[in-house]
Amino acid sequence: MQYKQLGTTDLHLSVLGYGASPLGSVFKDIEESIGIRTVHTALDQGINYIDCSPYYGLTKAEAVLGKALKGVSRDKYILSTKAGRYGPDFSDFDMSPTRIQRSLEESLQRLGVDELDIFLLHDIEFVDLEQVIHESLPYLERLKQEGKIRYFGVTGYPLESFKRIVEQCDIDCILSYCRYALHDDSLTQLLPLLGEKGVGIINASPTAMGLLTKRGGPDWHPASPELIACCNAAEALCAREGVDITQLAMQFAVQHPSISSTLVGTANPTNLLNNINWINEPINDNLVQSIRLVFEGCLQTVWASGKVENQDKPF
Ligand code: NAD
Repeated sequence: MQYKQLGTTDLHLSVLGYGASPLGSVFKDIEESIGIRTVHTALDQGINYIDCSPYYGLTKAEAVLGKALKGVSRDKYILSTKAGRYGPDFSDFDMSPTRIQRSLEESLQRLGVDELDIFLLHDIEFVDLEQVIHESLPYLERLKQEGKIRYFGVTGYPLESFKRIVEQCDIDCILSYCRYALHDDSLTQLLPLLGEKGVGIINASPTAMGLLTKRGGPDWHPASPELIACCNAAEALCAREGVDITQLAMQFAVQHPSISSTLVGTANPTNLLNNINWINEPINDNLVQSIRLVFEGCLQTVWASGKVENQDKPF
């Protein structure tokens, strides 16, 4: 496993990180003991970065992850969790300092740790960015000064929201999802700004939340029918070459030099081992070129997320 520095922090993250959302049965019902075994497999294989959120399975993922981490030496993993999002609707967001404070205490308890390495505001595009800039992020800076968290940042989908935050605030990192994967690599547009500001980059969802797997995405996936059709066409192209599309998706997502870590989610130890083995194998560049052409023909690789004013334009 390779490790990379996150921005200007002293954290060195494994290039493949473990995304714990499946532990909350977000994609399908999981067996807890197998989910816990997946976390231990990740740690045994050198993955040192784990990400979670109280939103995943409405606290279930944090609770299962807490059980998995019990007895694991604290220096074996770098842990991020989030605050601000507690359900699927706009009304389930609260980025006020009071709620963030309570959220942190609840998360630390569920996870069974005293301190967080990275604390993230979850899906900022759903809230008023003025509140994020003037209340939430200054509060996270205070938590950092008080030593309750080591570093902080924001997560989300539209690049526009990240741009506004990074231009106006000092943050340690961003966590972006589905914007650097086989179907869409538009995160690269933001890299010069992030580099200039020394903001660390965490890339999530290398399989585009399941779209780039043989099983396909879950029912709740926000992708357009057009994008899903392109993913199916890409999968068929890979199958003709005898390649699992997830292999190519994993290899593609971890290879960018500016990205410190790519988070993949699974509650299946075999899938995780496959992912780890795949990223150590050479990528088939010709096949990547052919797959990229499939997605070039798909106008709608981006979907709407959050408040209209925070979304990327045009759709
Ligand atoms: P992902 O692209 O990692 O896809 C997960 C899906 O792919 C699951 O259904 C899993 O079973 C399947 N999968 C994984 N490896 C596989 C393999 N080898 N073979 C077949 N199927 C495989 O998407 P994700 O889980 O949404 O993202 C990873 C993590 O990133 C999350 O768990 C979370 O920690 C983080 N994340 C954060 C945000 C945010 O903050 N807004 C958004 C998305 C993801």
